[in-house]
Amino acid sequence: STANTMRTVALIPGDGIGPEISDAVKKVLAAAGVPIQWEEYPISTKNVVPGQDLIPSNVLDSIRRLGYGIKGPLETPIGKGHKSLNLTLRQALGLYANVRPCRTIPGIQTKFPAVDVVIIRENTEGEYVGLEHEVVPGVVESLKVITRVASERVARFAFEFARQNKRRRVTAIHKASVLKLSDGMFLDCCRRIAAEYPDIEFKEALIELCSGYLISQPERYDVLVLTNLAGDIISDLAAGLVGGLGLTASLNKGEHTVLAEAVHGTAPDIAGKDLANPTALLLSAVLLLRDMGLQEHANRIEHAIYTVLREGQVRTRDLGGKALCSEYTQAIISKL
Ligand code: NAD
Repeated sequence: STANTMRTVALIPGDGIGPEISDAVKKVLAAAGVPIQWEEYPISTKNVVPGQDLIPSNVLDSIRRLGYGIKGPLETPIGKGHKSLNLTLRQALGLYANVRPCRTIPGIQTKFPAVDVVIIRENTEGEYVGLEHEVVPGVVESLKVITRVASERVARFAFEFARQNKRRRVTAIHKASVLKLSDGMFLDCCRRIAAEYPDIEFKEALIELCSGYLISQPERYDVLVLTNLAGDIISDLAAGLVGGLGLTASLNKGEHTVLAEAVHGTAPDIAGKDLANPTALLLSAVLLLRDMGLQEHANRIEHAIYTVLREGQVRTRDLGGKALCSEYTQAIISKL
């Protein structure tokens, strides 16, 4: 389809600040003339009915049918109550890769050298299969499951992402020196997929060396591909290097479904006060547009966001400014 064909995308506004930042996304995309109409789904902790499916199957079917979605944060009861709606959604939609670009934003002060990396995390297995047991009192075992299917799938995704986004290098991060079978197979899968992409340089790095270099010499890295727990840790490290939660976008990728979401939570302390920073969800929407092939719209919106942040006059409170979410959104629209 062409860049002007109207498409329908699922929108899950979410809990807390979710509806406010989702509203910013709708306004900015409309102002940029993006050919998207929304189908809204009120998935929320508030709408969970005891004894029924956490997320109604017709809602999941609709999101699968549309193929593309954006979601605001969802509240999770900690240590009690129902299972995480985020995890439920991820599993039900088969979202196997999590993509998080971490790039220093001109005008945003950080303590570190300029960073421009994309973290690609395997999202379905590894340590997160939750297979733990107590062998005898005082001794527990925890399984880390690595499969060839999931490793090749995420590796291929990393190389495709690199190619589509004009990135030069993919580095597989691992601990295969110790975890010879599990990380060994993950690394082997990355090597084999790399051979299919001669236009993209392939490197390997031990995770502890990668952690140090990300802080001191981040220019060593471009696209990183990691197993689940390693990706969880390294992606938060990289997000911290470039200015934190309010600015970090992410995309969850499945075989048939792509779901954009910010990294942060529902921010209950500022919810409903028009104080949230919508940048993370807006940049997540930019990732989704690129995935949908709407490059020009994505570039225009990203440029407008970066211009407002670089000029520094209109900023939300988390970035030391005084602007409301709605005022900041309007400033971005004025730069389109
Ligand atoms: P949080 O990210 O909601 O908030 C942490 C701090 O960062 C707060 O001070 C908050 O005000 C601030 N903050 C976060 N996003 C912001 C934004 N866009 N603009 C300005 N300030 C922002 O983390 P939390 O308090 O630990 O979690 C609150 C709820 O969110 C919990 O129920 C948790 O389970 C859920 N959560 C959901 C997701 C998700 O949906 N993917 C992710 C993380 C947490």
